[in-house]
Amino acid sequence: MTTYSAPVEDMMFLFEHLRDNKNYNEIERYKEINTDLVKDILQEAAKINQELIFPLAKVGDENPCVYENGVVRTPPGYKEVYSKFIEDGWTSLSCDPKYGGQGMPKTVSTFFEEMLSSSSLSFKLYSELSLGAYNCILHHGSEEIKNRYLPKIVEGKWSGTMCLTEPQCGTDLGLIKTKAIKDGNSSYKLNGQKIFITSGDHDLTENIIHLVLARIPDAPKGTKGISLFLVPKFWVYDDGTIGSRNGVDTSSIETKMGIKGSSTCVLNFENATGYMIGPENKGLSSMFTMMNLERIVVGIQGLGISETAYQTALNYSKERKQGKANNNISTDTDLIIKHADIRRSLMNMKSIIEGERSLAFWMSQQVDVSLNHPETSVRKKASEIVGLLTPVIKSFFTDMGMEITNEAIQIFGGYGFTKDQGVEQLFRDNRITPIYEGTNSVQAMDLVFRKITEKNVFESFVKNIDDEIEISRKNEKLNRHITNVFELKDTLLNFTRWIDPKGNTPKNDISASCNDYLKFFGYFCLAFIWLKILRKSYENYKSNKEFYDEKINTGNYYFDKIIPRADSHYRSAISGSKFTMGAKFN
Ligand SMILES: Cc1cc2nc3c(=O)[nH]c(=O)nc-3n(C[C@H](O)[C@H](O)[C@H](O)COP(=O)(O)OP(=O)(O)OC[C@H]3O[C@@H](n4cnc5c(N)ncnc54)[C@H](O)[C@@H]3O)c2cc1C
Repeated sequence: MTTYSAPVEDMMFLFEHLRDNKNYNEIERYKEINTDLVKDILQEAAKINQELIFPLAKVGDENPCVYENGVVRTPPGYKEVYSKFIEDGWTSLSCDPKYGGQGMPKTVSTFFEEMLSSSSLSFKLYSELSLGAYNCILHHGSEEIKNRYLPKIVEGKWSGTMCLTEPQCGTDLGLIKTKAIKDGNSSYKLNGQKIFITSGDHDLTENIIHLVLARIPDAPKGTKGISLFLVPKFWVYDDGTIGSRNGVDTSSIETKMGIKGSSTCVLNFENATGYMIGPENKGLSSMFTMMNLERIVVGIQGLGISETAYQTALNYSKERKQGKANNNISTDTDLIIKHADIRRSLMNMKSIIEGERSLAFWMSQQVDVSLNHPETSVRKKASEIVGLLTPVIKSFFTDMGMEITNEAIQIFGGYGFTKDQGVEQLFRDNRITPIYEGTNSVQAMDLVFRKITEKNVFESFVKNIDDEIEISRKNEKLNRHITNVFELKDTLLNFTRWIDPKGNTPKNDISASCNDYLKFFGYFCLAFIWLKILRKSYENYKSNKEFYDEKINTGNYYFDKIIPRADSHYRSAISGSKFTMGAKFN
């Protein structure tokens, strides 16, 4: 059986001690969000996740969404839990109070995102895409559109989708064919087909607000000719009431290997009425507001699922007896947690998960600054760091999710391969995360070909590392960790020069190495954050010795056992692509 208990203590440690971004601490409205309030929120969040949402994971896997007579039904229990979920206000946690939200910062809502991902990714996706739609409308919609649509989305009574993918168009959005033709002053008629649309149709909300990419007549070819439209499932009148059905139909839902409780729909737009969001032909950049935040959240999905896999494997290893551990001279067999190899596996998981959670928290402060700091230049700088790290968080966390769920199955031995224990579901559910919101390979290319070419952004990120190294020098127990981070930074700079698309390295060598670069970057970021965690652990040691002893041990494990992986990526990359491109594949 899978098990999950929300890691509130670890989250509170981060909120209390890693909230050290000076710019974040200057944001007026967050000054009153203190640790007592956050603890209360997290404890309530843990309750609804553990008691109501977590059980839905198995239910959804065994009773996938059903499509019948043009209607999509979610798995048993989803409706009831969703009602309670919105009644308790969870959809509004991080939204603007102007539209009924609670105005919590990302430093808080990111923890909630993780808990939801740990409990049931399928259930989470219904509200996750709504939050994405909320963000997109908030930043690019007119006042009229915002006032009409946002309150209901925030309340959770209406949900949202993002409709990009078409049968011929996945990664390459320049291939979009869906058409939008002007029809009156402010409306358009949309025609086309979108596939793989998460929460495209379901029975949880009164209305569904689709954000759709389409082309207007005579639009430039490729990605420069795409506009963004808001298309409601049901008409919405001026007073906010719902009318008859718009021209959007579901023709089928996908049968999938995982996240079976999430509806993944084929949507047909036939003279559907839509409203343009943002300027003509600039739809992709508006949609990117949604996608960039979504990509971070997908990274958090990988983290959340990893946590459940870790806890489940840990519990099993404390119950299962096999063989004898070293130095056992009795006749009794040992629990498998006594075996060094099982401990190695568990520590791999634990050190990566706790590092990721901390990095996500560090990043959430940057996101909050990028959205809410009073000074434009500060917001811009934070936004650039967020842009740089977004592909890393999305890809590294989800790839690690595959490794961790795989290791969890291994700890269960043969039982891990059977359905009964449920641990294999975590592997299947996580498998979508390296694919959607832009595949991990495409994220790696984004990092190399777009993000690191912005030299000042890269340098400003590296300055954060240098600052951490400087502060950590005050504690001599951190000397060896500082040396490690310093050496890694050196290799990162060499790697960055080698892979720079504006340099002399052949293009195929660069393209073939993007994944290695992203992995190196990921391990490096976690080393940086572990240095910070270790420093804070020593500073606060006396207040909770047991907690900090464990942290220090886990941090040391990361430095000894995980960091050496980073170098292998550098060595593999600089060997070039001669044999990659030389293959005939006959
Ligand atoms: C369960 C599920 C939910 C989804 N939800 C949504 C949703 O809500 N809204 C939505 O719009 N879409 C959604 N998608 C679609 C998803 O985002 C796409 O599947 C994904 O972006 C990849 O597109 P594709 O499947 O067409 O693969 P392709 O683009 O055909 O890619 C195939 C392979 O080629 C690689 N590749 C592609 N281009 C390049 C390149 N230039 N260089 C190197 N390698 C390349 C890719 O990395 C991949 O490995 C969902 C998909 C699934 C399965």
